[in-house]
Amino acid sequence: METTSSVRGMNDLLPPESAKWAHLERVCRELFARFGYDEVRPPVVEHTELFVRGVGEGSDIVHKEMYTFRDRSDRSLTLRPELTAGLARAYIEHSMSAKEAVTRWWSLGPVFRYEAINTGRYRQFYQIDCEAYGVGEPTLDAEVIAMLHALYTALRVEPITILVNNVGRGEDRGRYREALIAYLTPHADGLCGDCKRRLVTNPLRVLDCKVETCKAIVAGAPSVLDFLGPAASEHFAAVQATLTELGVPFTVAPRLVRGLDYYTGTVFEFTTTAGNLGSQSTIVAGGRYDDMIGELGGPATPAIGFGIGVERTVLCMPGDAATYAPPVGLFIAAHGAAARRRATALAHTLRQAGIVVEVEHREVGMKAQFRRADKLGARLSLALGESELASGEGKLKDMAARAEHPVVLSDLLATIQRLLA
Ligand code: ATP
Ligand code: MG
Repeated sequence: METTSSVRGMNDLLPPESAKWAHLERVCRELFARFGYDEVRPPVVEHTELFVRGVGEGSDIVHKEMYTFRDRSDRSLTLRPELTAGLARAYIEHSMSAKEAVTRWWSLGPVFRYEAINTGRYRQFYQIDCEAYGVGEPTLDAEVIAMLHALYTALRVEPITILVNNVGRGEDRGRYREALIAYLTPHADGLCGDCKRRLVTNPLRVLDCKVETCKAIVAGAPSVLDFLGPAASEHFAAVQATLTELGVPFTVAPRLVRGLDYYTGTVFEFTTTAGNLGSQSTIVAGGRYDDMIGELGGPATPAIGFGIGVERTVLCMPGDAATYAPPVGLFIAAHGAAARRRATALAHTLRQAGIVVEVEHREVGMKAQFRRADKLGARLSLALGESELASGEGKLKDMAARAEHPVVLSDLLATIQRLLA
């Protein structure tokens, strides 16, 4: 019979890789809590209009990457291509600004973009987002970047390069846009097809193009930093001063822009050579989007956030995925039905005390059972048969040292805790 495979660019996450993901999520959860972020989970599907308005019509995402479909009531719906717009929608819909002056949210889940597949570039991928609403001050920008620096340090991802820029807002941005168009227009013939379109719809995005010929042209483009008014310049200087005070290393990257239209002011990216991601080396990106909440119909609210690329981050985390899984503390090999019942009961007690225990429930030979204990990497094993049941005593085997420790079964937990310590 023919079998059905998964959709191209949409992957199954399997063990042992899932242990690495779990570690990343655990570290994020604990770290974000210390910075005051609460978890939210918006739906995966939103009205298409939200992304057209929020992410922007001129963005590649809306232009050519969205999974949009009509439901049975003929509504146009879209699988979210990112998390920020849906979170902003929820922030507005639940009148959060009336409930609290400052809101800090984080969220995690799959997002969908119809892209050319590559290492670290998929069509369903996961993001972990943080968003902070209600604060326009530059110290928050630095705090957010410092939190990510702490995250990647805790994950032992290195080396990390932190790029920061300020893309301006309002009039500053308008003047820069004009200057950029004036610079790029004479070079238009040398730009890729996408950038020829971007030059008209979204010229800042040309700065973000990954095509080599475009990169060469962009290298001579004017710097947005020369177009910032006093307020934006002061803000950017304060972000840098705070980062320095926090001991966070960073590089100012005047040509850094983000692929989404909504950014205003501070933008940043973390890149790394770990994991050999090539042109997919950006593992997290974010910035300010002080106009979005207002533009989506909410009260004018400054905001800043970022999206972590989970697959890319996991590819950069050191060590075999299996080392991230909790090790099996004890394998119980049992011979005979009575021994299996006793083994099941002993394992149950030990597991409730926090020990990872594997029991062989199948009626297979002891040799095969110990082979499986080895394969699982069990630290200790215990053989249970008629004689152990009768005497109430057994031998705990240290699988690596090949040493045996006598144990009284009624005292199993304490002995194991001592041996595993
Ligand atoms: P890129 O320039 O690599 O296309 P982007 O600017 O589109 O990235 P964002 O929309 O800012 O990316 O998303 C945040 C993060 O999500 C990125 O920094 C990256 O780590 C990750 N990411 C983006 N697109 C993909 C994808 N198709 N597959 C896997 N991870 C992705
Ligand atoms: Mg992209």
